[in-house]
Amino acid sequence: MRLLVVEDDRLFNNTLCYNLSAAGYTVDAAMTKSEAVNLCEAQDYDLIVLDVNLPDGNGFDFCAEIKEPVQIPP
Ligand SMILES: [Mg+2]
Repeated sequence: MRLLVVEDDRLFNNTLCYNLSAAGYTVDAAMTKSEAVNLCEAQDYDLIVLDVNLPDGNGFDFCAEIKEPVQIPP
């Protein structure tokens, strides 16, 4: 299972990544929204641990941007 941690606090980011890796997950880290966008364009993630306040954007906006649109049947 591949996870992405998006958190601008370096210590908190490192701590999350360390513990999630120790628990057996494959973990990538991003400190900014733009880093997270680049990583998500390169590969799919099973779960994203996402901060709200990022230096270059908002976690809620990022979440809305990367989610696939809901398909409404005709
Ligand atoms: Mg933060």
